[in-house]
Amino acid sequence: MKKTIRDFDLLNKKVIIRCDLNVPIKDGVILDDNRIRSSVKTIKYAIDNNAKVIILSHLGRVSSEEDKIKNSLYPVSIRLSELLNTKVEFIDETRGHVLENAIENMKPKDVILVQNTRYEDYPDKKESKNDPELGKYWASLGDIFINDAFGTAHRCHASNVGIASILPSGIGFLIEQELKMLGDTLNNPKKPYLVIMGGAKINDKIPVIEKLVTKADYILLGGGIANTFLKARGMDIKSSVYDKDSISFASNMLKKYEDKIILPIDGYGSNAYQDGLEVSYSDMTNIPDGIMILDIGPKTIKLFSEYINKAKTVFWNGPVGVSEFSNFEYGTKQVCQTLKESGAIVVVGGGDSAAAAIKFGYKDSFSHISTGGGASLEFIEGKTLPGIDIIEEK
Ligand code: ADP
Ligand code: MG
Repeated sequence: MKKTIRDFDLLNKKVIIRCDLNVPIKDGVILDDNRIRSSVKTIKYAIDNNAKVIILSHLGRVSSEEDKIKNSLYPVSIRLSELLNTKVEFIDETRGHVLENAIENMKPKDVILVQNTRYEDYPDKKESKNDPELGKYWASLGDIFINDAFGTAHRCHASNVGIASILPSGIGFLIEQELKMLGDTLNNPKKPYLVIMGGAKINDKIPVIEKLVTKADYILLGGGIANTFLKARGMDIKSSVYDKDSISFASNMLKKYEDKIILPIDGYGSNAYQDGLEVSYSDMTNIPDGIMILDIGPKTIKLFSEYINKAKTVFWNGPVGVSEFSNFEYGTKQVCQTLKESGAIVVVGGGDSAAAAIKFGYKDSFSHISTGGGASLEFIEGKTLPGIDIIEEK
């Protein structure tokens, strides 16, 4: 068991909390503050326990001076201050006297947000390559390190692994919750255990599918992944997107797990990967020439619902259609609604599926929506996440 923030006496201590405040921002406006909200519990706990709270996070990627301007954490400091209902002092640098003096002058319950850790990536990738000098410098600013950034836990960076290899360390409430839901709950699922997978990148997801197919009672497939399986089954999917290199994987899966893998039977499509064009509807056996399937249809929803309604545990990764296009959001929305009504334990993992669930208003309808896209899939695959591995054991 990893140490958690609860295992430390925080009184008067300088506590560095690595959060994942990597939210989408356009022209200074935060488009989705979910990751900030998810970080509040740990930060609040540290404030309530009279720590001096120093927050680190990355935002986007920084490989030029312009990237720095685009990826300032300043707007995040404002939103965080609102959510915490307390002053958050924003330090517009990742090292130096201003930062050191501000920390020197902190009183218990004060909160500092340090500028984007990836400013250190320009020009020489110090943060992302876990430069030892950088980790050591950041560690010198605090007494205790708490990692609560699940979304970057699969990366070995200075702001997680670097600092944790020096300071006494623990995980925060968010990582604790992620480990509980993606780990304990899905490793010992109440049966029937159903997996729903969609999205486009089958190649990336092969290890996850291989892992899950042995644990799950059924796997429902949608999105581009389903196209690859339909093609492997010998169907004519016309212009639909599929992954040639994964056909043999898909046909092996179908042979080995024929009764477990459930494919769409109808769908909506269009003659280009674009929103707003004329929508075509057909059975999968009868897709018109020139059409690419971009969503699942009502017969498939009915079929999928029968499985969802019997399930006690569901893991869902990947939208079952191009849910970012309003013409093709139907299937993903219906899956969300059916999951909500099913009463099953529902865990959502994956960046786009989480974004879709939140966008369609299902943020509080499921047992857990993971804040880690890549990290959640790597964890489910059974890979070690370096940002968690480095944390002290109890
Ligand atoms: P997640 O981030 O949840 O793991 P992915 O990144 O694998 O999901 O997949 C999301 C992408 O899959 C979306 O951009 C969506 O447009 C695409 N997608 C879903 N269904 C289809 C489809 N039928 N054809 C092409 N792309 C699709
Ligand atoms: Mg994605």
